[in-house]
Amino acid sequence: MNVLEERILQDGVVLNGEVLKVDAFLNHQIDPVLMQKIGEEFAARFTDKKITKIITIESSGIAPAVFTGLILGVPVIVAKKNTSITMTDSLVSANVYSFTKQQHYTITISKKFLSSDDHVLIIDDFLANGQAALGLLDICEEMDCSVSGVGIVIEKSFQDGREKLTDKGIDIYSMARIKSLENNTVTFM
Ligand code: 5GP
Repeated sequence: MNVLEERILQDGVVLNGEVLKVDAFLNHQIDPVLMQKIGEEFAARFTDKKITKIITIESSGIAPAVFTGLILGVPVIVAKKNTSITMTDSLVSANVYSFTKQQHYTITISKKFLSSDDHVLIIDDFLANGQAALGLLDICEEMDCSVSGVGIVIEKSFQDGREKLTDKGIDIYSMARIKSLENNTVTFM
């Protein structure tokens, strides 16, 4: 997706040769026009898969997931990183190691929003070592629903997340694939 790659080159900032800061359009300030285009592209890519639910993780996956859900006409479930007293239903959780925060956290979804009839599309902002996506796959497995694909806005292809997901037979679509962030320069695949 050229528009996204151009935006990464224009506004992305490389930190320590392996982390890309995109707080100008995705992680802090959000560009709704770009998010709409991303949603359209995910929806077109997965339209044949009869998706019934989209799942993402708070907070940066929400914008691309909601635009995709709007176009596919399906609800978007946001896996919570912190449960609150309002989450009174029966819950399903998975443990995730955060690459950027370098710590473990638990993601949680209310069981009432998923059933064995669901065909799930997982959407997230970044794919690095695949931990967030694997956590969501664990939740889907526990709920006995099928995962029809994973849509990623920015994949860091020099990390092994894609390999871990394809080993499990998952259909992944990444809109921008970064080969390297070496020398603080973004190089696409
Ligand atoms: P993974 O779980 O695949 O190891 O890492 C993906 C998650 O970590 C994403 O949800 C994202 O929040 C965060 N992440 C990983 N790498 C980066 C990065 O280079 N930049 C930003 N902004 N977030 C990242």
